[in-house]
Amino acid sequence: MTTTAPAPSPEVSDFLASPVLHLIDGRNVPSASGEVFPTVNPCNGETLTQVAFGGDEDVNRAVSAARRALDGPWGRMTPAQRSKILWRVGDLLEERVEEFALVEALDNGKPLTYARLVDVPLSADWFRYMAGWPTKLEGSTIPVTSTAAPGDYLAYTVREPVGVVAAIVAWNFPLLLAAWKLSPALAAGNTVILKPAEQTPLSAALLGEVLREAGIPDGVVNIVQGDGENVGAALSAHPGVDKVSFTGSTEVGRHIVGAARGNLKKVTLELGGKSPNIVFGDADIDAAIEGAAMAIFFNQGEACEAGSRLFVQSTVYDRVVEGVAEIASTLKVGDSLDPDTQMGPVVSEKQLDTVLGYLDSGRAEGATAVTGGGRKGDVGYFVEPTVLVDTTPNMRVVKEEIFGPVVTAIPFDDIDDIVRTANDTEYGLAAGIWTSDVSKAHNVAAGIKAGTVWINSYHVLDPALPFGGYKQSGWGREHGAAVLDAYTETKTVILKKG
Ligand code: NAD
Repeated sequence: MTTTAPAPSPEVSDFLASPVLHLIDGRNVPSASGEVFPTVNPCNGETLTQVAFGGDEDVNRAVSAARRALDGPWGRMTPAQRSKILWRVGDLLEERVEEFALVEALDNGKPLTYARLVDVPLSADWFRYMAGWPTKLEGSTIPVTSTAAPGDYLAYTVREPVGVVAAIVAWNFPLLLAAWKLSPALAAGNTVILKPAEQTPLSAALLGEVLREAGIPDGVVNIVQGDGENVGAALSAHPGVDKVSFTGSTEVGRHIVGAARGNLKKVTLELGGKSPNIVFGDADIDAAIEGAAMAIFFNQGEACEAGSRLFVQSTVYDRVVEGVAEIASTLKVGDSLDPDTQMGPVVSEKQLDTVLGYLDSGRAEGATAVTGGGRKGDVGYFVEPTVLVDTTPNMRVVKEEIFGPVVTAIPFDDIDDIVRTANDTEYGLAAGIWTSDVSKAHNVAAGIKAGTVWINSYHVLDPALPFGGYKQSGWGREHGAAVLDAYTETKTVILKKG
């Protein structure tokens, strides 16, 4: 494991020198209670800085500010003005890419190289793509044909913002997940309270600076830092919130649905996964091996759509497992700031314990680690990239989301069986198929119950492509035109002509 890493830049050192505050009504403020909590660098467990710890009063202030802002300058702005601001957010993110990437790498543990190439540029892409939508949110004119409404009518629809949106996000892509929520919510004219994950609060605070610099009026985006039990739960239950947009675990998704019942607020959910990645014997095997390794080890396996169940046709099983294990054992696992690092630590001590617990349970139930299988080093929260074999369908490592760099490799023979087995999960977020037979690829894609299916590729996400879960992987879709449905209400207006 590599340990040498450059020191943070002067801007980031300055940023970390004072506590991170909430952003409420355009001002950075401490918690009403004065409480703070530490955020740590998962590479060494050291505290990076202190962060305001939100509670009911902070949530109430943020919701009031967001409600006022709905009817304020934001509501009165033309769609074109909103577009311009969102585009500017993308530009500013790009200008400050180094600072954002460094903060993300320090706080989350992901390699700086990937934060610079993936997290920050994609966040800018999302704001720019969504900047195109305010001017295109059209309604339609619809003929009235009901026998119960004889007469001559003009009926049309208009799309209006849902109102105040609470965006609650996970820690695996802190900036990008915030961009996935904020950019469409703002494009549709809503106001927002963002609750970053308590493990990774930092990039959201920087994003707050960028949003203000881009011209987002006070109160339109509020950021309340803190944990789920206090801030997340208060937002989900708050009568002044019209919609919750949540990204996180299926378990917490259920709590949110329960809490949202009070005022029947709208809820969309992006939840967990246990996605199948299927390699057929006729695939380009070298590409499939590389794709299968990247599908699970990218971002330390902390990706909701990670290819964590690798199914390989028996004819090529040994070769593929050997190839993926070879990549796993040579991946450079180390400090997120080291330019050679390909995989960083998992995000927290708790996540380390969760992943190691799964590895123990796999071993106890009879699985074998071809490579990896344990913690790496004793400083920070590093896990060895792991390939498990000799699994059976009922093992916890096969059924449950581990959310770490652990893949189970399972052989199969029959194409019908593999579709059934791939679908034998409570989740349905994504799937991968590797084959050179186009008909087979489309037939299997048709049979898979998942929101995204990649063929001869993996992890490809785009602001224009809908993304979301079947079954217990979620409600609704993010991205593309589809996400605007989740952030707008449709109003039908009917005029009886004189
Ligand atoms: P988590 O559910 O524990 O936490 C997510 C967010 O919810 C955090 O901000 C947390 O503070 C908040 N929260 C916790 N308890 C809450 C409560 N009772 N009420 C309201 N909010 C509460 O998830 P996590 O461990 O941060 O993230 C990992 C999970 O997120 C995995 O299951 C992963 O698959 C999922 N995820 C899904 C997607 C997707 O797009 N489908 C993307 C990223 C992550």
